[in-house]
Amino acid sequence: MRVGIEGITSRIADIQSRIISLQTQAAPPATSVTAATSGKSASGTAFANVLSDAVTAGKTYKLNSKGIPTDLAAYGNGKIPASALEQVGTGRHKLWAPAAESLTRLIDDAKRDGVTVGITDSYRPYAEQVDLAHRKGLYSQGGLAAKPGTSEHGWGMAADLDLNAKALTWMRANGEKYGFDENVPRETWHWAYKPKS
Ligand SMILES: [Zn+2]
Repeated sequence: MRVGIEGITSRIADIQSRIISLQTQAAPPATSVTAATSGKSASGTAFANVLSDAVTAGKTYKLNSKGIPTDLAAYGNGKIPASALEQVGTGRHKLWAPAAESLTRLIDDAKRDGVTVGITDSYRPYAEQVDLAHRKGLYSQGGLAAKPGTSEHGWGMAADLDLNAKALTWMRANGEKYGFDENVPRETWHWAYKPKS
């Protein structure tokens, strides 16, 4: 048996050095969305509450200079483990934690206004994006799918919503307060989480 304490120790050292290199690969934070202490975002929206919830969970959530969550960047687009994401409401959908909490609140508030905001898609693994691109074509070529590895869904930063006419009107009037932006022409269902710091 060649696997002794020595082998295990060197394996641990190897794993530790990999963790460190993964951590240092993440781009430096540029945009901070942890403005919870200020109580108000630039547009005076409800972000502060959402983010303070996230912060009290023991983590600090930030975006790097490319708008990618710093806690997810090292995993890669579409390669994020389910445990690193947060569930939206009580359903099967998951997003980056601040986005999940904000969307959960949005859905609850819409419901109070008599509006149903459903979710058809949220975080999307890389393989599913590849499949989608095959079925729907690339957006750049007139289709409806982002190039695999570039989708906002791959970072847990966008949700595709099930909206009737009333709900779409509600989203256009209120989505921004929760950080959700209808940012893709031809896709009224696609809402990206774009918190303003
Ligand atoms: Zn989408």
